[in-house]
Amino acid sequence: MSYPAHYAELCTLLRRKETLKSVGALLQWDQETYMPPAGAAARAEQCAAIAEIEHKARTDPRIGELLASCEGDASLTGDPASETAANLREMRRDYDLATKLPPDLVAELARTGSLSQEAWKHARQASNFKAFAPWLEKMMALTRRKAECYGWARGGEAYDALINEYEPGATAREIERVFTPLRARLSDLIARVADSGTKVDRRCLKARIPPAKQHEFGQLVLRTMGFDMNAARLDVTTHPFCSGIAPGDTRMTTRYRDEAFTDALYGTMHEGGHGLYEQGLPKSPEGRKPGRFGEPMADAISLGIHESQSRMWENFVGRSRQFWTWALPRARRLFGPALGKAGADAFYKAVNTCSPSFIRVEADEGTYNLHVMIRFEIERRMIAGDLKIKDVPAAWNRLYKDSLGLDVPDDRRGCLQDVHWSFGLVGYFPTYTLGNLYAAQIWETIKKKIPGLDAKIAKGDWLPLRDWLKKNIHQHGRRYRAAELCERVTGRPLAADALLRHLEGKLAPIYGI
Ligand code: ZN
Repeated sequence: MSYPAHYAELCTLLRRKETLKSVGALLQWDQETYMPPAGAAARAEQCAAIAEIEHKARTDPRIGELLASCEGDASLTGDPASETAANLREMRRDYDLATKLPPDLVAELARTGSLSQEAWKHARQASNFKAFAPWLEKMMALTRRKAECYGWARGGEAYDALINEYEPGATAREIERVFTPLRARLSDLIARVADSGTKVDRRCLKARIPPAKQHEFGQLVLRTMGFDMNAARLDVTTHPFCSGIAPGDTRMTTRYRDEAFTDALYGTMHEGGHGLYEQGLPKSPEGRKPGRFGEPMADAISLGIHESQSRMWENFVGRSRQFWTWALPRARRLFGPALGKAGADAFYKAVNTCSPSFIRVEADEGTYNLHVMIRFEIERRMIAGDLKIKDVPAAWNRLYKDSLGLDVPDDRRGCLQDVHWSFGLVGYFPTYTLGNLYAAQIWETIKKKIPGLDAKIAKGDWLPLRDWLKKNIHQHGRRYRAAELCERVTGRPLAADALLRHLEGKLAPIYGI
């Protein structure tokens, strides 16, 4: 099928824009993996240069002209449910957002962000918030300026403009509405677990496994997930991430600690879930279908949905009894006697304990969302100007005391632990909890749609799950908004009950509550 010339030209321009974006992503990936420290200043210039060129491509007035002419073409937009109509709707959104940002601000965000990220790395290592504070100050000022350029609906707040970048259509108030009751039920659950007096034996997780062996096991898990390793890399960074750089090129990272092999295992499954979403998007040519790189239909809907994919593999597959039935004999073969003698049931219980801790990325499923809600509150107040940068550590520590009952010992284990704010990612954290909520609700549907799923997981027969996700979620790209996709797939709007059912159903028998 051939498209009218104005639509074809539009797709070509957007493909070029996406190619430039992928160059920027590659620079960033390299900065976090292999770049020597002395390259930081030059890298900041490289990032700023490419961001400027990309922004120019994204805001090319020709795109505006072509959009207007395509929008008036009934062969493209006559059927609002068509792919071309959905593509144009999302192209319009992207163009309108991009043209609201002045090029100097875009370059400044990239340049300062790159330097600030480098400063964060050192400050975190030294647990020295004061060294990072001036950079955070600069990044928050730039981020606030960005929010003002985007603008927000009457009655809303600057934060809405920022979260809209990651979770189209979401607002701070709406998130607060979902989070408040979730926090209440979770706090209650965590308190009941603490009061149960049950201590789960976690010694099996302390086995000392060399990183090279852990890496090998991680690769086996990824292959079983149906991940195409020919089209991906797995490297090591301080803060694991996944970047769907380009068709056929997905980069993931993890981190290894000798005495905590399940950290890397779950980190790998998590990023692998993100990676499968990237691989399932129709970016690359498939059979007779052309690759659609650059079109919204080949792009992820929202970070919340992206996170639902990673959480599903990490928690709903990886932390299940069936997973350990499959994994343990294979781990034993690879790790040898170092793994110890504990059985699948012991591992299942050990990876599903619930106890408050300092580090978000290492938090258990039960307490994880409280970490997210703390960040949501702090960043919302920073952007509103209600919280001064110098007061961030105190506010952070107070919230950890109130929500999790913890006394934060230092900023490295406190407000310096996450990379996000260092390069201006504000409005990003809530999407982690949205991801957990989407994952739980979608999982309840999957259990009904894939017969014998538990038995399949126990056998390592995971491709039916990957294929279901590809068919029902990945391949749609941005055809539907997150809320709409959720309703289409699960038959109801997003709610907290599925996640609470999942957590209570798991923790109650383990803790006898
Ligand atoms: Zn993630």
